[in-house]
Amino acid sequence: MRNRLILILLLTLVAIAVSSCHQPADGPVIEDRVPVSEQTVSVQELGRRLGLRASESKSTHITLKNSANTVMIFTVSGGQVYVNTKPITTVGTVERAGGQVYVSQSLVPRIRSAMQSPAAAAPPSTRPRRSSGTIVIDAGHGGKDPGARSVLGYYEKGVNLTVASKVARLLSQKGLRVKMTRTSDRFIELEERAAIANRLRADLFVSIHSDSFPKSSRRGYTIYIARSASQLSRQAARAIERSMSRTGLNSHGTQTAGYQVLTGTRGPAVLVELGYLTNRHEAALLRDPAFQNRLAKAVANGISDYFN
Ligand SMILES: [Zn+2]
Repeated sequence: MRNRLILILLLTLVAIAVSSCHQPADGPVIEDRVPVSEQTVSVQELGRRLGLRASESKSTHITLKNSANTVMIFTVSGGQVYVNTKPITTVGTVERAGGQVYVSQSLVPRIRSAMQSPAAAAPPSTRPRRSSGTIVIDAGHGGKDPGARSVLGYYEKGVNLTVASKVARLLSQKGLRVKMTRTSDRFIELEERAAIANRLRADLFVSIHSDSFPKSSRRGYTIYIARSASQLSRQAARAIERSMSRTGLNSHGTQTAGYQVLTGTRGPAVLVELGYLTNRHEAALLRDPAFQNRLAKAVANGISDYFN
């Protein structure tokens, strides 16, 4: 009896020792369990929030990727979540419904904090950056991704393309070399938009969007740069913001955000939200060709001011 107790004690100690071996010395702490009461999210939505696309879906695990990260989620009980081969937490409760796999929402920030930003993973650019003389204009959304719906019924992807095309034309007329990420109503991954700018070693990447908000009274334009934006991105944002103020729209100034087109581009990058499709007044302006010209002129002038 006594020998058996000692044996059990020894086995317990071995089990503790083995399980603690899995924990990297100074890596992320492996959490024991995700609380069951947490709100759930589909793995598809989780991927969308983290800027990842599903690359493999098996009964035991799902793999999500972007250019810098591979996230593996083992969807079996006690399964681990790996970010770039490092275990970061257990998956917790896994539910399946309607062909979708649901996991705890709390995984989103945990995975995010273990991910590498695509720009950080990219090979370091040679300093000083050689000028390519190319500006990339990105019309947000397109194809199966319509973007926001305006209160007047039309979709964001169309306005973005119209204004972006006008911006590109105006810049070309000023003698600048311009490349658009899309010139028609087609879908392009966010990652690919940034990759286009990186491949061309663009001197500036400007993404054109139209905003939406639950409250219809909200109006005005907003300029976005990445949280870790370079000095050049900040200068470009300032120039475009100044020029946009001449459109007569309210300004929400320059703000920072984690948009993938901004974090994925190696060179200076700015995202312009032209105005609110959810505001009746601005939805009408954004559809009006004369006002679209005014907006395009403001963005193009801001861009050329930045280069001068
Ligand atoms: Zn948008």
